[in-house]
Amino acid sequence: MASDYDICVIGGGVNGAGIARDAAGRGFKTLLVEAQDLASATSSSSTKLVHGGLRYLEHYEFKLVRESLSERETLLRNAPHIIWPLDFVLPHKNTVRPAWLIRLGLFLYDRLGGREILKGSKGVRFKREGFGAALKPLIHKGYTYQDCWVEDSRLVALNAFDAHRLSADVKTYTACTGLVVGEDGHWKVSLQDMMSGEQKTVSAGVVINATGPWVRGFLESLNLIDENHEAPKIRMVKGSHIITRRLYDGDHAYILQQPDKRIVFAIPYEKNFTLIGTTDVDYDGNPSEAQCSDNEIEYLCNAINIYFDKTISFPDVLWSYSGVRPLIDDGTGSASKVTRGYKLHVDHGFGAPILSVFGGKITTYRTLSEHVMDDVCGILGVRKKGWTAGSPLPGGKIPATAFERFVEAQIEQYDWLPPETVRRYARAYGTRMNKILGHATSADQLGRDFGGGVYEAELVYCIHYEFVKTLEDFLWRRSKLGLHLAPDIIDKLEAAFPSIFEEVKKI
Ligand SMILES: Cc1cc2nc3c(=O)[nH]c(=O)nc-3n(C[C@H](O)[C@H](O)[C@H](O)COP(=O)(O)OP(=O)(O)OC[C@H]3O[C@@H](n4cnc5c(N)ncnc54)[C@H](O)[C@@H]3O)c2cc1C
Repeated sequence: MASDYDICVIGGGVNGAGIARDAAGRGFKTLLVEAQDLASATSSSSTKLVHGGLRYLEHYEFKLVRESLSERETLLRNAPHIIWPLDFVLPHKNTVRPAWLIRLGLFLYDRLGGREILKGSKGVRFKREGFGAALKPLIHKGYTYQDCWVEDSRLVALNAFDAHRLSADVKTYTACTGLVVGEDGHWKVSLQDMMSGEQKTVSAGVVINATGPWVRGFLESLNLIDENHEAPKIRMVKGSHIITRRLYDGDHAYILQQPDKRIVFAIPYEKNFTLIGTTDVDYDGNPSEAQCSDNEIEYLCNAINIYFDKTISFPDVLWSYSGVRPLIDDGTGSASKVTRGYKLHVDHGFGAPILSVFGGKITTYRTLSEHVMDDVCGILGVRKKGWTAGSPLPGGKIPATAFERFVEAQIEQYDWLPPETVRRYARAYGTRMNKILGHATSADQLGRDFGGGVYEAELVYCIHYEFVKTLEDFLWRRSKLGLHLAPDIIDKLEAAFPSIFEEVKKI
């Protein structure tokens, strides 16, 4: 008898969602299950960079850096609404690394991955380019280069949405609680609805374990570690970020070399804020409970204070978040030196194949997904080619170099909405913003107005298309409105959300 699904992907982070999209697009009957909300773990806690990782060159990770660098423009072209070029300014500090080493690194960075849209590196005098105004006077020269910014949790939601568009079933707040192979040779996957408690079992030919930092614990808890075919060990490394009021003018980010040779980014965030991170701390707790410690806050504030004129400390920290990197344990001493590469581990020893994803980066999620699905096609003996390199994500069919023109056209078309609201919709939903604004010709046709540019129509869209089930999903992962909205607006949204949710579910 055929199984319910060809492929069951467990874990709705960037890798699970990317794999489900690729699988569905290759014509496999696919199920994606996520125990919480999409991107509720590592994939919403990153530094949000699509980058080669300049510092990995120091650890001779040329293959990883090349793959990541060449992926930058592929992702930028496929999702220019949620991914955009970001200028990085690297102040020179001879005491940390000599100029020749930085220049060599940038020389390689410019050439390793190929580049058509992004600018190459150059040496700069800060006064002339206007980068020095907020920095200490002695810091006056350095280098610039470009990488990309990504709205990480929206990247996950768009992959899941596209997987669903391609006929995959996507079940959020649904945990996989058991995996056994039945007599028919298919996986019996036990699922539990984390909201209602309801349990059910589905069958699948292949299981993909994309549970990020849980990857090894998941296998161990279900007795799926094959002694003869040992899966890689995982090293959990916590990384924290702090958010302050905007520390400097300009759209560029700083990459700040620290005395311990680590680097810390200061990045313009959500218009009024600066995002500062990250740390690298070995971690052995529950990944979903990771929090930024006082030591990490102190480290990140000091990292800024070495370079900036204005000093920051605990009271300047408005918000913080932490995530756990699921890194492959390669036996390296220092947490910051552990490889950011990935390994795919296939086990056939249980009677049906299970493929587990170890490690990875947001930047490489698409190529990782392609490799996973190439392996699955090999296992199943079918020839179905990868297709995602040239396929825009939902809302992303806009030329990467013409995004500002797209925004201007939207501002003109929807001139009855404040330009900053239209800009936010364009950035979040790209061409699909017309699904929210539809044929409306005035704001009062968008349903309830909650204030702060939030209308009922947007909530309805996110519940309908983007798997929003709680207000927190909407405020913190489909958007970052939680950072901006006044408490009275959030109160109004909290009161209205349950009935809007029920209404949408009836449709
Ligand atoms: C601090 C930090 C900064 C980073 N910065 C960058 C960066 O700037 N650029 C970059 O490219 N990469 C970055 N990374 C790396 C990147 O964020 C991760 O590699 C990536 O998000 C991992 O995605 P994932 O899908 O493997 O895991 P996750 O996003 O953690 O997803 C795994 C999911 O599995 C679910 N799950 C677990 N168990 C079950 C179960 N039994 N049933 C159902 N679901 C389950 C979890 O709820 C979770 O949502 C950073 C990581 C950290 C921690």
